[in-house]
Amino acid sequence: MEKRRYLCPVGTELYVVKTGEWRAERPVTDPKKCVKCATCWLYCPTQSIRDFKTHLGADLQFCKGCGICAQECPRHAIAMALEEEE
Ligand code: SF4
Ligand code: SF4
Repeated sequence: MEKRRYLCPVGTELYVVKTGEWRAERPVTDPKKCVKCATCWLYCPTQSIRDFKTHLGADLQFCKGCGICAQECPRHAIAMALEEEE
């Protein structure tokens, strides 16, 4: 895991945690339905929503697959898909 160090106010170290590593489902955005309203960005608890030019979608390094974006999208542009088992 990539390790970056930050100093937080209480003097302990913070690390970038790639929460996408334990995801069971992934959000898949339909670019034809997405109007880039950013509702998904507003609700995403891991701040994983990125601008992919044609649509907003999840950065899968950090998306933990909670499905909140799919629930909140007013255009129903996001579908949750099962991750393939390795
Ligand atoms: S909430 Fe839906 S329509 Fe709005 S930016 Fe996100 S994916 Fe696109
Ligand atoms: S599934 Fe959850 S963590 Fe992933 S982009 Fe949507 S709201 Fe964010």
